This record gives sequence, structure tokens and C-alpha cells, in this order.
Amino acid sequence: MKKIPQYLAGEFVQSQTQNWIDLTNPATNEVIAKVPCATPEEMRLAIDKAGEMFQSWKETPVSERARVMLRYQALLKEHHDEIAEILSQETGKTFDDAKGDVWRGIEVVEHAANVASMMMGETVENVAREVDTHSWIQPLGVCAGITPFNFPAMIPLWMFPMAIACGNTFILKPSEQDPMTPMRLAELFEQAGAPKGVLQVVHGGKEQVDVLLTDPAVKAISFVGSVPVGRYIYETGTSHMKRVQSFAGAKNHMVIMPDADKQQVINALVGASVGAAGQRCMAISVAVFVGAAQEWIPELKDAMAKVRPGAWNDSGASYGPVISPKAKERVEALIATGEAQGATLLLDGRNCTVDGLPDGNWVGPTLFSNVTADMDVYKEEIFGPVLTCMNADDLGEAIKLINESPYGNGTSIFTNHGGAARRFQHEIEVGQVGINVPIPVPLPFFSFTGWKGSFYGDQHAYGKQAVRFYTETKTVTSRWFSSEATSSEANFSIQLR
Ligand code: NAD
Repeated sequence: MKKIPQYLAGEFVQSQTQNWIDLTNPATNEVIAKVPCATPEEMRLAIDKAGEMFQSWKETPVSERARVMLRYQALLKEHHDEIAEILSQETGKTFDDAKGDVWRGIEVVEHAANVASMMMGETVENVAREVDTHSWIQPLGVCAGITPFNFPAMIPLWMFPMAIACGNTFILKPSEQDPMTPMRLAELFEQAGAPKGVLQVVHGGKEQVDVLLTDPAVKAISFVGSVPVGRYIYETGTSHMKRVQSFAGAKNHMVIMPDADKQQVINALVGASVGAAGQRCMAISVAVFVGAAQEWIPELKDAMAKVRPGAWNDSGASYGPVISPKAKERVEALIATGEAQGATLLLDGRNCTVDGLPDGNWVGPTLFSNVTADMDVYKEEIFGPVLTCMNADDLGEAIKLINESPYGNGTSIFTNHGGAARRFQHEIEVGQVGINVPIPVPLPFFSFTGWKGSFYGDQHAYGKQAVRFYTETKTVTSRWFSSEATSSEANFSIQLR
């Protein structure tokens, strides 16, 4: 049985642990590899080596750091399909979707290659007589990232390229449910010329994460995952005086105005709700039909009924299995609550089968109408191919519903009315808004800006905010005396003269 290595002190090595987790293919539930839980000694080695390497990496010229990212970007592109295939094996994502996962990560690496211009400080000459001030942006030290299962290429690539381009060293603890993709990313990073020890990859779960959260040598923690873990990471990391950005769960609404283009709405809802088996933090899980738009629900049902899950290399499949039998059980249990609590189950994805793959974690497309805000299918993040439909009398009622949600990752409106779109984007209390765009994930020159219960912290992922997150600002005030202006008196005031 294949054992997943760790990347420690610049070597891909087997763990000495006795504690291994099974890695399964979600389409078959066959065990495809064993994932180690790093020992305390291995965690120590990762942190110590990252600390040691920081001393030389921070002195590496910014243009050299940028060139590593340029070479990395080229290598990732060259190996794009191969990485996507590994990703499909361990997540069950369709090949097309897996390629998208890799591509959105490559875009961040491209952006990280611009690091020099993003790390420019500011200068003002003559802030007082013969006094000048300039600021520098300097790296923090050892940073760590803890990533979820649902984007094993994109989310690690949100983190370590930006942190390392800024001059930090990085320890990645990827999801134990799909670590093969991040390991391949690490191999290619070394091939791109990243010095050994700048990036370390350790495996495991809570025990290993707790080491990163509490060790004083780790200065910053980037986390992406579920709400309860995200809160725990933020509270524990900050109470250990670390900088923390914690991206958590979501429940994303799409508002459908009656003046929208019906076919565009149906296409967007089907793709954004069941794509990736609904396992996206920006998936649309709630459709809010305003007024007469609810008459389109039967056509939405017909379109969703045609969609089917399947194997990663089945070109007719729209999406793959959910990640584990436990995830499937949870999704099916939530579907049962919807029925029990009075929602109308228009399409039931339970007991779904796929020919030739009887043991996969399949859930068929599921559609509810007449959902209300007190139902579990509305309140819980289902993380499965389930779309819940609600009705609102007008746009104001739809906005109120969304603003009362504890989550604030993404939302969208479909309309042809500029005034409605403008009001929506202005009043909505959600960090990422799409107008006739169902999944508005910003490209990396912006930042990924979830709000409310979907994000704990101040500075978001990638873009300028990531540079602020992974750096400190140092402000230098200097005076060079010229003979005429030199004062002969002591200055007892705080004012610069
Ligand atoms: P998860 O919270 O179960 O796991 C995320 C990471 O935390 C993994 O590496 C895991 O090993 C670790 N972990 C799990 N339990 C832990 C604990 N008790 N203490 C410390 N670490 C722990 O999340 P998941 O199921 O892998 O991912 C799905 C979730 O991630 C969904 O809720 C989804 O919305 C969210 N997500 C959010 C975003 C975003 O940008 N807001 C993006 C992607 C995914």
C-alpha cells in the first residue's frame, strides 16, 4: 500500500508514526494510500527547519523570489492535466472540474510573481526639516496553512506562494482526505528552484494543527475549513498571539428577479448548486425567487433532473461523488429533515446509483421548494448537491433574508434592471457579490473577501490583503545633518523639528 510521504527539511520522507489514516477514492471507497499523522518530533523538525531557513530566505532578493514563482507557474501549467488527474482520483471531481481547481491556483502563483511591486513601501521627503520617512514591508517569519478537502490544489496555492514570495517560510498541513495533490504541488515547487526547507508539508489532523496553533515560532496561521474548526483556529491562534485568517463555511443565496433572463437563471442555478457535488464554499445553495420568478421552478426541476453524477473520466457526468460515506450520510440525513419539516421535495437525490460504481458516495441532484428560514436545510451548510428554493415578495425582502443569515461568503442577483442590481450590491451584507454571475470568486489581483460567520480575521486571501497578512510594515524616520541647519539645542518635545 502506498504511503504518503511528508516534505520535511527539504526531503520527501516516510513518517515514523504508528498512526495512519486511510485515503480512499470516493467513487469506489477503495483505500488508495495511507496518510501519516506526523509525530511530535516531525512537527518539531518542520518548525525548526522553517525557522532556520527563514534567516536566509528573507535575505534572498525579491526578484529571485519572484523568479521562483515564474518558474513554478510554468511547471504547474506543464503538469496541469497530470495534477488534475491525481486530484480527480482522491476527490472524485470530474476531470474538467479538477482542471479548474488547478487553474485557479495557477492564477495565484502568477500573481505572486508580482511580489516586488506589492511589497513597495512609501516615502515622504521633508516630513520635518531635513527629516525623511520611508516604510518597508518585511516578512513575518514562519507561517502555517491548514487546508480543507474541497480544493486540494487551489487553496494550498492561495497560501504558500504568496507567503513565500513575501520572504516567509511556510508549513502546510493539507486535508488528510486528499493530500496527494498538495504533495505533487510541493515536488514541483522544489523543481521550480525553491530552496529546500522554505516549504514543509506535514500530515495529520487536530493534534498536528494544535502544534502549529500553539508553537511560539509560528507567527501566522491561514485556515480554510468548516465553521466550528474555523472558530477554534481563530480563537486558539489569536490567544497564542498569532496573526490568524480563518475562512469558514457558507450558505450562499442567489436572488432571481422576474425580469432576469430565464434560461441564464436556470443554467446558472443548476451549475452553481450541483457542480462539484455542491462541495464548494461558493456554491449556490439557496435560490430566492422574487415575485413571479417562482413560476420558473418547474423548468428548473426539469433541467436539474437531467444532471447526473459519475466517474471522474465519464464525459457525460456533471459532477462526482461526495468526499466520504460520512459526508453522504450527513447530506441524506439533512434531506430527510427537509421533508420532515414541511419543505416540498421536488427531486430526491438519496439512494443514487452509478453504473459500474456501486460503492461510491453518490448523491443525486436534490431540489426543495417552499423552504423557510427556520428549516435545517436552510440553516445548515449541507455541502452536497442540494438546492433549496425560497420565495420573496420583493427585492427588499430578499435582501433582508440574506442580511439576517449568519454567513457572508458569496451571493448573486440575476436581473436586467440596473437599479435593482445597484441596490443589491450596495445593501447586501456579504463579501463577494455577483451580478448575473452565480459564483463570483475574485481573481487574485483582488482578494477573496468573505464576511460575517464565513471569515474570522482582518486580511483576506491573495491580492494586496495577503501581502499585508504575511508581512509587517517598518517605518523609518531619518535625519542627515547639514552644517547650517544643525540645531545646537536639545528637543524636549515629541514634535519633529
Ligand atoms: P474541516 O474543517 O473538517 O477541515 C479543514 C482542515 O482542518 C483539515 O486540514 C482538517 O484536518 C483540519 N481539522 C479538522 N478538525 C480539526 C480540529 N478539530 N482542530 C484542528 N484542525 C482540524 O473542513 P473540510 O470538511 O475539509 O472542508 C469543507 C469546509 O470548508 C466547508 O465548511 C466549506 O464551506 C469550507 N470552505 C470554506 C472556504 C472559504 O473560503 N470560506 C473555502 C473552501 C472550503
